[in-house]
Amino acid sequence: MKFDIKARSGLARAGTLTTSHSTISTPVFMPVGTRGTVKTVSREELEALGAGLILGNTYHLYLRPGHEVIERLGGLHSFTGWRGSYLTDSGGYQVFSLKTLNNVDDGGVSFQSHIDGSRHRFTPQSVIDIEVALGADIIMPLDVCTPYPTEEKKSFSDMQRTVKWVEESYEHLRTKPDNNQALFSIVQGSIYVDQRLACLEQMMKLSPPGLSIGGLSVGEPKEDRARVLAETLPHFPEHLPRYLMGVGTPEDIVEAVELGVDMFDCVMPTRNARNGTLFTRFGKMIIKSARYIEDSKPIDSECACPACRGYTRAYIRHLLSVGEILGLRLASLHNLYFYLNMMQQIREAIAQDNYAAFKSRFMSDISQGVEALG
Ligand SMILES: [Zn+2]
Repeated sequence: MKFDIKARSGLARAGTLTTSHSTISTPVFMPVGTRGTVKTVSREELEALGAGLILGNTYHLYLRPGHEVIERLGGLHSFTGWRGSYLTDSGGYQVFSLKTLNNVDDGGVSFQSHIDGSRHRFTPQSVIDIEVALGADIIMPLDVCTPYPTEEKKSFSDMQRTVKWVEESYEHLRTKPDNNQALFSIVQGSIYVDQRLACLEQMMKLSPPGLSIGGLSVGEPKEDRARVLAETLPHFPEHLPRYLMGVGTPEDIVEAVELGVDMFDCVMPTRNARNGTLFTRFGKMIIKSARYIEDSKPIDSECACPACRGYTRAYIRHLLSVGEILGLRLASLHNLYFYLNMMQQIREAIAQDNYAAFKSRFMSDISQGVEALG
């Protein structure tokens, strides 16, 4: 994997990430393909929307259809037909969120499947084995997902366990012959900047190809997240891509890019679409609202997505209200287009060294409310 920074605007960076499958422009947003699909959207549609890198969930693919099945079918690319790049998470976030989490010890984490209650265990080594079988371009090591709030002492011991697990993951990946997957390191430490900097120092000893920032967007106040990013990112080496896991709203992404983040993923555009919440440049549109029953305008007349070019608010509202699959699809296409088009505008603003002006216009527009769309 190769990462090149091509332009800067303040602390924001725009560049390219080249994997063995494709070259991706950064800052990049990764649509989430939880179970081998970005829900309701086809591969061709994702390509047309301009998605270059998508995220697959190790936990879900491990349970169904199973990583061995996917490996025998040639890996995730071959199995799903996706021609761009893939990143897999470690499954840790899902496992740590389970109500049936049984035990976390120095060696790994034991849990019960949310599907049938069967017992499983993830270790740093087994997660690498699963991710090697899946064959994504970029992979994440198992880490301890510290919830918010967590007191300083517990966060510190979690962070130390993460360091141990990530070291073991690197060691284990080295035993795989001819492997060229990019294994990122993960910086943890909750909202404690000194812990995050200590974690970063340990991670850099592993010569990672990229750095993830974990344990944010887990319920902490927005100000804490901004402070942690602002005080830690200047210590990250310039030449590595920085991936802020699980973030976030359009506003969160615009703010994090300003601080120097390069990669994002979030279920928000697709999950919110299925709930009838549409993202627009003037804020969120609750399309199921009664005010749209006879509204013959598109969601946003200036949006070039397939939903806005051919369908009315009234029709999309109707489809979602009666639970038609086309409604879920159109809403997902619009929201994904909004996110991916926003990233394009972000990259252009950085290339023109105009990011501060872009951000101030974006924030002022998005706070207006959808009434401004007409
Ligand atoms: Zn649209």
